[in-house]
Amino acid sequence: MTVTMKEEVELIRKSVRSLCKKFPEDYWKEVDEKHEYPEKFIKALTEEGWLSVLIPEEYGGAGLGMEEAGVILEEINRSGGNAGAGHAQMYTMGAVLRHGNEDQKNRYLPKIASGELRLQAFGITEPTAGSDTTSIITTAERKGDKYVVNGQKIWTSRARYSDLMLLLARTTPKDKVAKKTDGLSLFILDMNDQKDRITIRDIDTMINHATTEVFFENVEIPVKNLIGEEGKGFRYVLSGMNAERILIASESIGDGLYFVDKSVQYANERVVFDRPIGQNQGVQFPISRAYMEIEAAKLMRDKAAQMFDANENCGAEANMAKYLASEATWKAANSAMDTYGGYGFATEYHIERKFREARLFIIAPVTNNLIVSYVSQHVLGLPRSF
Ligand SMILES: Cc1cc2nc3c(=O)[nH]c(=O)nc-3n(C[C@H](O)[C@H](O)[C@H](O)COP(=O)(O)OP(=O)(O)OC[C@H]3O[C@@H](n4cnc5c(N)ncnc54)[C@H](O)[C@@H]3O)c2cc1C
Repeated sequence: MTVTMKEEVELIRKSVRSLCKKFPEDYWKEVDEKHEYPEKFIKALTEEGWLSVLIPEEYGGAGLGMEEAGVILEEINRSGGNAGAGHAQMYTMGAVLRHGNEDQKNRYLPKIASGELRLQAFGITEPTAGSDTTSIITTAERKGDKYVVNGQKIWTSRARYSDLMLLLARTTPKDKVAKKTDGLSLFILDMNDQKDRITIRDIDTMINHATTEVFFENVEIPVKNLIGEEGKGFRYVLSGMNAERILIASESIGDGLYFVDKSVQYANERVVFDRPIGQNQGVQFPISRAYMEIEAAKLMRDKAAQMFDANENCGAEANMAKYLASEATWKAANSAMDTYGGYGFATEYHIERKFREARLFIIAPVTNNLIVSYVSQHVLGLPRSF
């Protein structure tokens, strides 16, 4: 990485930090309590162009890389916010950019960059398949110049607040393909066109994530909205997953540094037994240990992002970054709860909200068990276990 590049990244960090100051922790507390989508924040983020940084300049974006994108999400979470309300627009972008055709890019990217259209929904997970994506049973059947989709997705976050959904469906049954990863196809679904055939049901969760179940009944997608080749969608999703892992690692790092910032501040201020609680090694050591682990995760995130931007295969690094960041941050979250004592439970201190939010990244978008399994098999060459 060149010095100029580093300066650019730091400039982005500063600008995002200053935008986030307009959305203090009480803003996030309020939307969390009301289970509201942070519409004002997403609008501001879009208007300043931060959500479209990965879109090339020729399509109206900033044409920046994963390194810059990661820093944007990191800063949002470090400020006490929750980038989850907008992150999918960044990580779904990879599939369209890398595998979409010119017509698709021309039709959608400028409108996404300007904020006219939102690509915030990613329909992969299904109730019966879970982590085993190749077992999804939502089908897309070709009929003339359309595909007709039937089935159900679960945990489709932001579907209510998105115009477009990147949808993975089976175009050839699993028992009719040579490899179980074949026969899956990826589509850009314009949900506005198909409102009467799509049913969205909210899932009430412990965090404010606007997540839903989506039911498709004879939903029509024009053939021109198929990304890449029919049957190769799983490959496109996989290649986009490296971006997703790096961006999620970045959000997690932001959360971790938030907990460290808040813990240090509180441990210096809170006096018990006539001294700041931070003077006790029992209080300071867990904060410092978590901080060191977050900084190490950050190095892995930076490495993965730089490799991604250089078009190198960063599967191992992206996965390891997501794992290391989410585990380190979970330690920071627990040490913040301990540092705050009883006040950690009081909503006005915000720690409990961030604690709930930080826990997600151990589970989603891929569970850490699946990452350890990936490293065992694909990085270390241990026998495949499933
Ligand atoms: C708030 C939230 C938002 C989400 N948003 C989206 C979204 O926008 N789009 C989308 O497509 N999905 C989304 N997801 C889904 C998420 O990606 C899945 O929850 C996740 O991939 C795990 O799938 P599952 O919940 O079905 O768990 P399961 O696959 O049922 O796994 C349950 C547990 O078993 C473990 N396990 C399973 N198999 C193995 C194995 N072979 N070895 C070791 N351990 C194993 C897992 O690690 C996990 O701990 C979201 C989830 C949540 C909670």
